[in-house]
Amino acid sequence: MSTYPDLHLYINGEWRKTASDIPVLNPATEEEIGRLPHAEKSDLDDAVESAAMGFRVWSQVPPCERANVLYKAAALMRERQEEIATAITAEHGKPLSQARLEVIRGCEFLEWDAGEATRTYGRVIPSAPGVRHVVHHQPIGTVAAFSPWNFPMSQPCRKVAGAIASGCSIILKAAEETPAGALHIAHAFHDAGLPPGVLNLVFGTPSQISDHLIRQDRVNLVAFTGSTGVGRHLTTLAAQHMTPVLMELGGHAPVIICEDTDVEAAAISGAVRKMRNAGQVCTSPTRFFVHESIFEAYTETFVRRAAETVVGNGVDPGVEMGPLANERRIAALTALVEDARDCGAEIKTGGSRIGDQGYFFEPTVLANVPDSAHVMQEEPFGPLAIINPVTSLEEAIGKANSVPYGLAAYGFTNRADYVDRMIEGVEAGNLSINTLEASLPETPFGGVKCSGYGREGGTEGLHNYMITKNVSHSLSIV
Ligand code: NAD
Repeated sequence: MSTYPDLHLYINGEWRKTASDIPVLNPATEEEIGRLPHAEKSDLDDAVESAAMGFRVWSQVPPCERANVLYKAAALMRERQEEIATAITAEHGKPLSQARLEVIRGCEFLEWDAGEATRTYGRVIPSAPGVRHVVHHQPIGTVAAFSPWNFPMSQPCRKVAGAIASGCSIILKAAEETPAGALHIAHAFHDAGLPPGVLNLVFGTPSQISDHLIRQDRVNLVAFTGSTGVGRHLTTLAAQHMTPVLMELGGHAPVIICEDTDVEAAAISGAVRKMRNAGQVCTSPTRFFVHESIFEAYTETFVRRAAETVVGNGVDPGVEMGPLANERRIAALTALVEDARDCGAEIKTGGSRIGDQGYFFEPTVLANVPDSAHVMQEEPFGPLAIINPVTSLEEAIGKANSVPYGLAAYGFTNRADYVDRMIEGVEAGNLSINTLEASLPETPFGGVKCSGYGREGGTEGLHNYMITKNVSHSLSIV
């Protein structure tokens, strides 16, 4: 039984097909599961017009009513969890259990921002008698948002939640390879009573859509999640129009394993978490720097658990890791492994494509990887871990910081002084100690260096979607 949805654009509260469409493939079988309409320029112009009208309406809706629509949409998505998860597994490949969790995480993003919608407080600045300085936060306008294929549901939920909670309208271009998650979000908001035009969903050729939308005067914020290369390109386009951006870009997360940690528990947690979503996560733990005194024991346990990962079609029970989302990832990972091997790295397990149908790749662990290997600098975005020994925490922190990225970083230790040194020294937007969780609805998430700027989630999340306006009011003319 297939519950893959019939795919549409969503503009001005209406579902729309177009003259041209492209296939959506199941990465486990390479079979076509749907056809996705491609937006023409006229569809994009309609979306801009619709979003401008949607903003006029929605920005005047009281925050608690905006919150109610978000809560209702989340409740509908929770009811539809199984249908949505099945569609995500079909188009992305991840195990059904992970797709179910992703749906719930998406709902939590909506629910968190619903609460935040009612708390976008301004402030009163102390002043001379007869004068009041009052700071207001107001919605920025129409958001052009671009979400990637690795989390078809939770990634677009982040941006939709931020925009709608703040009183903005949004034109979302979700990933063409995984459109069903975003489509289900649009259905839930439609059914929850969101006014037409507030949320618009388009698909097409990414570069054409971003180029067309970003040059519109009526687009007031560009929000993107994806690679640093594309993020840099979109930021450059936006700069030409002085349009602000929210950029969640790549990462190459270091994990510092100190000598005092529980080696077995830390190694198993690392191996399991690394393979989640087949490693296609911007916060995926990738560069493990392990104190030399526990390096052998840590590596042995890690490799054993990684090699035991059950790989298969995400719909099959017991599968822990599905295929990669597309063929590009197979080529990229194969090239990184071959280069590392040529540089002298040890391939402890994996390293190759599995079979010739579906985009399956072996859980892969490389050890003693020289700094000269490309994979030490380039985000693998796949089920590939690097384990290298270090002689001290200082050396580990130096290696952690030796990439252009600074998104998530992790440390395993029970020593408060080690934690303190990591807080001071590690260049990252998110540092997690003794856990490989980096992104929650209630915590601010985002990067430093080439991992982008702006934050999603936490109390900081709505700031990107709002402008700050100071009003100075003198009670008499001065
Ligand atoms: P890519 O850089 O071509 O695409 C990444 C995403 O950006 C896709 O969703 C794509 O549709 C979109 N995109 C590409 N060009 C665009 C443009 N001109 N305008 C608007 N959107 C555009 O790479 P890919 O092969 O799809 O993915 C591989 C790389 O992307 C990975 O190495 C990883 O670094 C990055 N990525 C990061 C995240 C994340 O969560 N930060 C998610 C997915 C992919």
